[in-house]
Amino acid sequence: MPTTYSDLVADVRKRTKQVSLAELKRRMDAGEKMTLLDVREKEEWRAGYIPGAVSIPRAYLEMQAEQKLPDKSAHIVAYCAAGNRSAFAAATLQDMGYTHVETANPGFVRWKDMSYPVELPAALTEAQRDRYSRHILLPEVGEAGQARLLRSKVLLLGAGGLGSPALMYLAAAGVGTLGIGDADRVDASNLQRQIVHTTSRVGMPKVESAAKFVSELNPDVKVVPHQERLSAANVERLFADYEVVVDGTDNFPTRYLVNDAGVWMGKPIVHGSIFRFDGQVTTFISANAAKKVGVEAGPCYRCLYPEPPPAHLAPSCQEAGVLGILCGIVGTVQATEAIKILLGKGTTLSGRLLTYDSMKMKFRELKLRRAPDCPVCGPKPTITTYIDYEEFCTVS
Ligand SMILES: [Zn+2]
Repeated sequence: MPTTYSDLVADVRKRTKQVSLAELKRRMDAGEKMTLLDVREKEEWRAGYIPGAVSIPRAYLEMQAEQKLPDKSAHIVAYCAAGNRSAFAAATLQDMGYTHVETANPGFVRWKDMSYPVELPAALTEAQRDRYSRHILLPEVGEAGQARLLRSKVLLLGAGGLGSPALMYLAAAGVGTLGIGDADRVDASNLQRQIVHTTSRVGMPKVESAAKFVSELNPDVKVVPHQERLSAANVERLFADYEVVVDGTDNFPTRYLVNDAGVWMGKPIVHGSIFRFDGQVTTFISANAAKKVGVEAGPCYRCLYPEPPPAHLAPSCQEAGVLGILCGIVGTVQATEAIKILLGKGTTLSGRLLTYDSMKMKFRELKLRRAPDCPVCGPKPTITTYIDYEEFCTVS
């Protein structure tokens, strides 16, 4: 006797464990660990879904399950609109070796009627889905992560050697707002490493030249130029609107201002520096910043160097050369850190200093620890206001 649709539905319902919507909601409220799997079509998903759900349309389930649901022993609750497609999906997952699968009964339509929480997907345009498709294919980014990047605001201090590659990749990645702080104009001697600028833009303010590059690369990105030098007077105003600060400046007064503002205002600081053939990167995440971005706090710059060195001992970096391409490595590591912080994925360089020796082609890592007596982030801070140290080293 041929099998009818209702026979098939009755069969998978018998073979799979059903969970009522009220019970599902109760478990979600209790913070129970589970993966919600939405097996509806993309068009249905776009009209809203249960918060936190993973989307795999039914037709792609066998193909994408192992990639998007790598843990076969994880607790998975599948749902669709009314409960039939999800029952078939749950049965398929069981056949594929998933051991802890349930199917919601009925489904999203009733869920919505009951005014249970619904999340709307990030509204990416067709053009954006196309432009960022290689990001969207990564489960760690996806449409939600890409939308997060588009809503993000990063401040780049310096549109120079480190700022250039960082800016280029952050703009390409679709970080929606990029503030650029730089008071200088493009000089011919910059072009060997500051690759965001061009020969035809020599003499132009760097913020303007950088904005030109970004507008040609990615119309999704808004550049906010700050053509001013960082000082105690403007640091809080400059930082206020941004979530992450990528520090590509290379002078001590700025480094301390950036650090202190990062600690007091709770902004992660991605720090990079270069010297001749060597580079280093770390990320400073203060206790305040850690709370905001949901990662572990680490040391600050003053935990390592409580005060700037006396002027006569500071390296005269004005005269030091630098291998141009070194900037590309260090600046792109900085941009990577910023993107991970914005996405809330991966492990940052908080508490670790990554060093790079381009001559030996060696990366090394040093542990950085919080100083219990740090004058800024310690329990008994001795520095509580911004200090404009005397400038003695300016090259980037
Ligand atoms: Zn500290």
